[in-house]
Amino acid sequence: MAVMRAMVMEAPRTPLMLRERPVPSPGAGEILIAVSACGVCRTDLHVVDGELEHPKLPLVPGHEIVGRVAALGAGVSGFAMGERVGVPWLGATCGVCPYCRSGRENLCDRPLFTGYTRDGGYATHTIADARYCSPLGDAGDDAELAPWLCAGLIGWRSYRMAGDAQALGLYGFGAAAHILAQVARWQGRRVYAFTREGDTAAQDFARSLGAVWAGGSEEAPPEALDAAIIFAPVGALVPAALKAVKKGGRVVCGGIHMSNIPSFPYALLWEERHVMSVANLTRDDAREFLEIAPKAGIRSEITRYPLARANEALSDLREGRLQGAAVLIP
Ligand SMILES: [Zn+2]
Ligand SMILES: [Zn+2]
Repeated sequence: MAVMRAMVMEAPRTPLMLRERPVPSPGAGEILIAVSACGVCRTDLHVVDGELEHPKLPLVPGHEIVGRVAALGAGVSGFAMGERVGVPWLGATCGVCPYCRSGRENLCDRPLFTGYTRDGGYATHTIADARYCSPLGDAGDDAELAPWLCAGLIGWRSYRMAGDAQALGLYGFGAAAHILAQVARWQGRRVYAFTREGDTAAQDFARSLGAVWAGGSEEAPPEALDAAIIFAPVGALVPAALKAVKKGGRVVCGGIHMSNIPSFPYALLWEERHVMSVANLTRDDAREFLEIAPKAGIRSEITRYPLARANEALSDLREGRLQGAAVLIP
């Protein structure tokens, strides 16, 4: 019997444990994937820290999966054995709720999320619903593509929500922002990067990727912004970003969890400024981003960790000891 390895969360707020189990067989409509890389997303931290409720337990986290098709379940078409595929956060949707039927499957009433309500990619193998997997072609390194599957895709959805902002602020310069800064530069937009106060390493990193300015999150940028996207899970950044955007400007919250937003004067919202959140992704977001990313020549800055050191990767992300994205290699 073939055996797989996985880093398993048995309960929130406990370290992941390395476990062996039989390699599963894909059911109808599913594919078995031999994982070659899985990115570590901030959402994984919210899951293991117990900030997102009702995870599947025990759970294999991870929703930035790159791997190769190792078995096809009954009825799967459009994928070949050995083909490289990506598995994102959106694991399945119901297809019949009002959101699914109106092109907003990201808001589905009965969704499954990879590495949260179904097992993910902190493992040598994983099973995915073929309809939500993306073909990744052969160009590019597996580990460098991994952050595209969430930081890229949900980052892209946030970026679209920001409209055609020419002066764009990015609050929190981690995995998503470092990808979007490159898209924005390629499109000729001006990126203003906001980091923790005094984090000169992150500010230098942002400038190296094309940001025209980088500074602390409470600083005023040298020009008023058309829009801002907040990736850091810090509610106090909402009023800070509202202060930085001009009339009619948008503030997009791109994360799944945030600390409480402090109260703020109505004057910060007045003049048709908008505050909005982005939830999950649709398969259209995935198609669009995966088409545009190679054209934009996006490079991911990654730090590789062996699968068994997943807990260390999570701690490094939690403590802000990483530049770019952490990626687990089984
Ligand atoms: Zn639905
Ligand atoms: Zn994610």
